Amino acid sequence: GFTQVPLESARSTKHGVHRGMSSVTIPPPACMLRPLEAPFRYLFGPGPSNVPPRILAAGGRPIIGHMHSEMFGIMNDIKKGIQYAFQTSNNMTLAMSGSGHTAMECAVFNIVEPGESVLVAINGIWGERVAEIAERMGAKVHTLFKTPGGHFTNAEIEQALAKHKPVLFFLAHGESSSGLVHPVDGVGDICHKYNCLLLVDSVASLGAAPLLMDQQNIDILYTGSQKALNAPPGTAPISFSERACHKMFNRKTKPVSYLLDMTHLSNYWGNDGKPERKYHHTGPVSGFFALRESLAILAEMGLENSWSHHTEVAEYLWKGLEDLGLKLFIKDKDLRLPSVTTIAIPEGYDWKELLAYIMKHHQIEFTGGLGPSVGMVLRIGLMGYNCNKANAAMALAALEDALKQCRKSKA
Ligand code: PMP
Repeated sequence: GFTQVPLESARSTKHGVHRGMSSVTIPPPACMLRPLEAPFRYLFGPGPSNVPPRILAAGGRPIIGHMHSEMFGIMNDIKKGIQYAFQTSNNMTLAMSGSGHTAMECAVFNIVEPGESVLVAINGIWGERVAEIAERMGAKVHTLFKTPGGHFTNAEIEQALAKHKPVLFFLAHGESSSGLVHPVDGVGDICHKYNCLLLVDSVASLGAAPLLMDQQNIDILYTGSQKALNAPPGTAPISFSERACHKMFNRKTKPVSYLLDMTHLSNYWGNDGKPERKYHHTGPVSGFFALRESLAILAEMGLENSWSHHTEVAEYLWKGLEDLGLKLFIKDKDLRLPSVTTIAIPEGYDWKELLAYIMKHHQIEFTGGLGPSVGMVLRIGLMGYNCNKANAAMALAALEDALKQCRKSKA
């Protein structure tokens, strides 16, 4: 037991406050005197996903200094792992110290200067977010718009590029709020024809759906750690093409963020060719250990195996959902994101009640929509370590139970 020192005895004396404890007026909070509680949950939503023991163990290793040679070695390994996962030979490849949003901001802040034109494809929340990020740093933002579930043809993209002449075009490959995997073939070439750089978000799709950064002429690609990579949230791989480097390292103005300035980050990651790596910020050492391990697991499995495995499990889940009488939100199978499946909310149900029932009785997290897809969909994510038929069967059984228990209107 912890006995609290009465506050009265820790008050000031005639000589002013005692050194040390006497100036404390806020007592230790009761919650801090209780142990940490974090329950086990099946994380079958759109992320984070469950972290396998091997990655947890890597993250639990003793900390070393962020500037130690061994740490630089681990960062070099991470760079190689990302180059493999992204299928790129870009030298300017690294991991952000922060979640997926950090990579989104890093890309926009470094590539775009205030007043420059940006084109954003909005077909869910991620385009909305990138448009806001670009607007905040003073870009002229133009948008291409579809309601959630929609996608853009290359002709539509080309028309908008010709009209707005942006320096950057954003597209979400795995649109996790709608469950759509967006076609990317040819988009890079069209962008380059109009002297525009292509920025692609693969936070929800990396490792689950085919994406080839170099072959598909993507200029900036980022992902997150907490989805198919199964690392804890908090690091975000990103890579820049030569073309992107040329633009961002020949700017007239400094990027608005010091923390996300690629001139500093490229040195921290040993990408700028300088003999010395200087202190910029203290990277998340444990997060990098875990990220390295997750990239190692992907390399051992092989990207193509990972893609086909996600597709196979997703197809099993889709079939099971249809057998339950549910409608998949994305009609075209080829446009369905294998990592995050969206289900049209069945009639006669309150989606919040379904989710709460499944959490309470099955310890499984599914989620509702996000941003513009709220109230339209339920989302089930089976990513990386979580992606197997046993988990899909468990998800289906939980949903079947909830559909029996939570029916509202008896038609
Ligand atoms: N883009 C996509 C497609 C995502 O699914 C997410 C996370 N849900 C993000 C970006 C943002 O990542 P984070 O939450 O790690 O900042």
